[in-house]
Amino acid sequence: MPDQVVCVKCGGQMERGGIRGDSSLIWGRVKETSIFGARAVQLVAPYFEVDAHRCEKCGYVELYAVKQQGR
Ligand SMILES: [Zn+2]
Repeated sequence: MPDQVVCVKCGGQMERGGIRGDSSLIWGRVKETSIFGARAVQLVAPYFEVDAHRCEKCGYVELYAVKQQGR
């Protein structure tokens, strides 16, 4: 991942950050299972931490899942 990220919408400078939710954002592969006819979706490894870059000019946010988590 490049240090300097340029906004794809307006070409402005993008600042690296993160998104705060209930827990840290994690990207994982989606696995669909069916239990007693009910469909369930769960995340399976590999997991990646998600970085968010925000454009200082237009506010566009781009997400990067580059840091793989252990396990
Ligand atoms: Zn922008």
